[in-house]
Amino acid sequence: MQYDLNKYRAILFDVDGVLRRGSQLIPDVAETLSKLREQEVAIGVVTNNSGSGAQAIAQYLAKLGVFFQPHEVISAVDASAMWIAKHGPGKTAYVLGSQQVRDVMREHDIQVIEAPETVDYRCDYLIVGACREVNYEMLTRALRVGLQGATFLAINLDRMYPGTDGQCPAAGAMAGAVRGMLGRVPDISIGKPEPHLGVLALERFGVTADETLMVGDTLATDILMGRRLGMDTAFVLTGNDSRADITPDNAPTFVIASLAELAP
Ligand SMILES: [Mg+2]
Repeated sequence: MQYDLNKYRAILFDVDGVLRRGSQLIPDVAETLSKLREQEVAIGVVTNNSGSGAQAIAQYLAKLGVFFQPHEVISAVDASAMWIAKHGPGKTAYVLGSQQVRDVMREHDIQVIEAPETVDYRCDYLIVGACREVNYEMLTRALRVGLQGATFLAINLDRMYPGTDGQCPAAGAMAGAVRGMLGRVPDISIGKPEPHLGVLALERFGVTADETLMVGDTLATDILMGRRLGMDTAFVLTGNDSRADITPDNAPTFVIASLAELAP
């Protein structure tokens, strides 16, 4: 298929299944990104990762040999903090998630309550992300904070992500547990396919949707978000989804076998 790559002023990349698979960089990625850096196009990362903020993701990618400034990384964790900071009014939160998420929230002046029993479980937000340390005590605290009426914010609703040795539970696993306990769906979900990350990326790079290409390996998140915002979308076949998964509702603008096709 022929497509005109020169029309784009910004190209946004998902991370898992697009740039890396677990701790491995996907072939052609480093070369493609450095070629794009030489062109007049902004490149950035838009990730649902619910365990780390932009700074940590940029550091991790640098170790793999691909370089992004933290401001070029649009992360669902930072976007969650920004959403709370913007919407208020309250800014106290219990986090069912990683230590890094708690750290990022604090950087955005959100008061993270580690032991909600000390405030009678009254927190403004219940923030839910992937959580390797999850245990019964944490679930109990999340339940009671939710029962007291906290706004239930899911960093994303991804079911799983590709780890080095196979699939791993993502934020959707934790959000599903909370939903099961509370009997209600999240009040807000920040990650793709919701528009928040894409809107932030457009603001950050100073571009409009029709001059932006979203590149992803997952039709239900990356491609759907791009479509909803009016971006062109490139579906890359290095992740989980395949051509057979394409339907009229999630069809990308074009399909590529490798990122190398973006910088011929
Ligand atoms: Mg992906």
